[in-house]
Amino acid sequence: MPEYAIGVDLGGTNLKAAAIASSGEMLDRTNATTDLTEGPERVVDDIVACIESLRDRFAGSRLAGAGIGVPGFIRMAEGFIVGSHNLPPLNNYPIRDAIEKRLGTQVFLENDANAAALGEKWMGAGRDVEDLVLLTLGTGIGGGVISRGRVMHGFVGMAAELGHITVVPNGNPCGCGNRGCVEKHASATAIESMANLLALGQNLSAKDVYDLAVAGEERARAIFKTMGQCLGIAIASLINIFNYPLYLMSGGVLAAWDYFYPALLDEVRWRSFTFRNTNTRIEKALLGSEAGLYGAAYLPVQAQLTTRH
Ligand SMILES: [Zn+2]
Repeated sequence: MPEYAIGVDLGGTNLKAAAIASSGEMLDRTNATTDLTEGPERVVDDIVACIESLRDRFAGSRLAGAGIGVPGFIRMAEGFIVGSHNLPPLNNYPIRDAIEKRLGTQVFLENDANAAALGEKWMGAGRDVEDLVLLTLGTGIGGGVISRGRVMHGFVGMAAELGHITVVPNGNPCGCGNRGCVEKHASATAIESMANLLALGQNLSAKDVYDLAVAGEERARAIFKTMGQCLGIAIASLINIFNYPLYLMSGGVLAAWDYFYPALLDEVRWRSFTFRNTNTRIEKALLGSEAGLYGAAYLPVQAQLTTRH
């Protein structure tokens, strides 16, 4: 049996884990729910149980380690999460070391969008490049930057919080303390808020707004145009900063690509000399909600490759 690693995607309600071979082949997976009501030890118990159930199935193979993607700001040196709205009991809890001690294998903690970006680099839309940026469009907007094949961390581990780039001065207030963050103007939640403001219907989901756009509702189309403009402003800045070859987006909102991408492209063309003069690609990510599992599993694999060379 081949060497493998285990990737974990820890969300506020769901816990997903996968055993992935060092070659990138998905071997097996498991799911559980995240119980946050009984404190951090209980969450650690659940994660360890998930990882052990996979490890038991591959008892004859060598485990390279485990990677855990979590929503929130990470302090890499300490191995804990700060400022996570989805996992409040885990804030400032030494989750990496607690899991490592229980498992007896090396454990890596990573922001979930960073992990997704690494997953796309390893086995997804970014396989042919060494440098890329990923924006995950969901209830918020997550970001990951891959530089020379590795996650860009910054000096603490909080780099690439791309959802909090300001795109509207004095725009909508954000939980981070800022106003006008791109995630408040271009996420699925932002689309729903705009539909509410325009009184398009009662409690419409982003999918409902998309269906209205398809049906020809001009105000729904205007919402996606606004969203595309805001995303475009953010992406133009990223292109101007990084001059990377590839900018990826993921999330259910991509279904509305044809309604937001033209406005996005207009902004990027206008605002970025680099974009107009290079073969820069802006594309859909390929791995969907599995990207984080691939990236988390790749962390121990990549660490070994570095040690060996
Ligand atoms: Zn913000």
